[in-house]
Amino acid sequence: MGNSLRTRLYINSPLAAGQIAALTPEQVHYLRNVLRLSVGVELALFNGADGEWLGRIAELGKDKGQVEAITQRRPQSSVPDIWLLFAPIKRQGVDLIAEKATELGAAVIWPVVTKHTDVARVNTERMQLNAIEAAEQCERLDVPELREPKTLVDVLATWPKERLLIVAAESGEQRFSLPEVLKDLPKSPMALLVGPEGGFATSELELLARQPFVKLAHLGPRILRAETAALAVLAVWQALSGDAAR
Ligand code: SAH
Repeated sequence: MGNSLRTRLYINSPLAAGQIAALTPEQVHYLRNVLRLSVGVELALFNGADGEWLGRIAELGKDKGQVEAITQRRPQSSVPDIWLLFAPIKRQGVDLIAEKATELGAAVIWPVVTKHTDVARVNTERMQLNAIEAAEQCERLDVPELREPKTLVDVLATWPKERLLIVAAESGEQRFSLPEVLKDLPKSPMALLVGPEGGFATSELELLARQPFVKLAHLGPRILRAETAALAVLAVWQALSGDAAR
């Protein structure tokens, strides 16, 4: 693995040989003023569908720029089909989760509003930008899908029943560790859910436990901060059921 071209850009349009794509104002600023690159410099391009391409800067003006795709370097690939649901926390926590969950290979990142969630609004647009930046840096060829926030009750009511939902619940509430739970599960699509700083309400834990597609799991004897728990469940899942051990 490894990538000889240091600069990788996410492009929101088709990539094919000779295809010219417009850069966003942020990308123009980054290439021109931060990296101080100029026309002709080669870089890597990806769009989440057409693989990774060797590209070249075709135009780099003050506030306008274009790149040209030359040849495909890698075919399209995607991360395992794992969703991360988390109760939104303060801004830095949400940004951290968007960035790190992208690196850890989440396919879907979904803020879920629970009883003890005290964050009124989640800026999913900013989360998406964080996810794109993380994908550019970690050599992912796809960008996670960022869902709009929904309440836990709504999420459960419309849940796709064939997908198992593994809920991180502190050790007092759950006898089985995440590795034990994963070991016994059939191969099926999965999602991971982590609660807010104040934990799940008792009524929510009861509601979760009643769902046939839900499994509760603990992450050891220490109580983790919500963002730590979100990244820990994802890392453990990738190591035992995903692509980290391949
Ligand atoms: N219940 C505690 C802390 C919540 S920690 C309180 O009331 O303050 C935030 C979330 O992280 C929890 O809802 C849970 O989903 C997850 N979490 C933290 N530590 C965990 C552990 N040891 N096992 C499983 N989940 C954990």
